[in-house]
Amino acid sequence: MTFATHLECSYTGERYEPGVPHGLSRAGKPLLVRYDLEAVGKAISKEVLATRTEGFWRYREFLPVRHAENRISLGEVVTPLLRLPHAEKKLGAAEIIVKDEGRLPTGSFKARGLALAVSMAKEFGIDHLAMPTNGNAGAAMAAYATCAGIKTTIFCPDDTPAVNVEEIALQGGDVYRVNGLINDCGKIVGDGKEKAGWFDVSTLKEPYRIEGKKTMGLELAEQLGWALPDTIFYPTGGGTGLIGMWKAFDELEAIGWIDSRRPKMIAVQAAGCAPIVKAFESGEEHAPLWENAWTAAAGIRVPVAVGDFLILRAVRASGGFAVAVEETDIFEARDRIARQEGVLLCPEGAATYTAYEQSLKNGLIGKGDRVVLFNCATGLKYPMPPVEKTLDRTKPVDYSVFG
Ligand SMILES: *Cc1c(COP(=O)(O)O)cnc(C)c1O
Repeated sequence: MTFATHLECSYTGERYEPGVPHGLSRAGKPLLVRYDLEAVGKAISKEVLATRTEGFWRYREFLPVRHAENRISLGEVVTPLLRLPHAEKKLGAAEIIVKDEGRLPTGSFKARGLALAVSMAKEFGIDHLAMPTNGNAGAAMAAYATCAGIKTTIFCPDDTPAVNVEEIALQGGDVYRVNGLINDCGKIVGDGKEKAGWFDVSTLKEPYRIEGKKTMGLELAEQLGWALPDTIFYPTGGGTGLIGMWKAFDELEAIGWIDSRRPKMIAVQAAGCAPIVKAFESGEEHAPLWENAWTAAAGIRVPVAVGDFLILRAVRASGGFAVAVEETDIFEARDRIARQEGVLLCPEGAATYTAYEQSLKNGLIGKGDRVVLFNCATGLKYPMPPVEKTLDRTKPVDYSVFG
């Protein structure tokens, strides 16, 4: 059972029928799923929801999967909200909350989007999926598609972290390293639709990954007692999560579970790849391709985003902003937070922390704000500083050095 009524072009509003596979709209823009929200509000209550245990699938009334047997699950959890007490104390900040998405299957929040995209592919009887990826999306797609018995072909830039490429292959994905960036990989996927017969699962080029990412917004609202934070810092690549959360808040307001107040949405990018920041600052609606994109925070190394205007609209409507952070600051923040709090952020998550500090310093946000930072993947998937210290057990141990 689903309450999805139709799909809608996010740019022109043109309607599309549900129940059949879709890519982009005729205008070449992302399609958004629309629901009979009145019926959703009657079918589910906050109290019933609170009794459910199955991770993001607990929000099934807000999702497009029709038949329960098509819901692919690998053991999703509600991701925890962690406070950063030492940082709060140092900065004199009211509340810094990290939503730790690294606890999801395959170690990143890409699990949310791909669980939905793969479940819908299963519902439509699609037997071959393809995507370009900087790593985490490919790993999630391979895992969920393998679970669903669907074949996957995956293309990554050749400098994608080895752990991601190997994870994809081990989880059944047919994965290739390509000497180019994610948009170059995306072109191969797009061109292969007819020649290889696969379905293109690129970010926002099919309508369901965003529905999965939307559950971050539903989950966050529920965890905070159906109140939203003052500010959300989101590491923005293709922007699915930011757009998805914005959509979640609108749907929750439509059924009367929250009011019209919204968090300031802050799109965080790396200085080496900041197309959204540039477009935000110059007042543009679209963000042209960023040349020679580079950052070691692979999840936000996205030089061009098909949903650029949706990211920019949400950021502006929220009273938020877009901010770029320096590469050295990202890793300095990761190392410092790990040592200080015992919380190992991924580089993209560390980018949100450093953006937060920067925005506090610039007076763009206040110390009294309740702030949520998204840690989108487990820090364990990324290279860490080497450790050089050794101890020779055959010699007397000098215990005075351990003080
Ligand atoms: C994909 C990814 C992002 C960017 O997410 P979008 O919603 O596509 O903008 C950020 N961080 C990590 C770790 C990712 O894997």
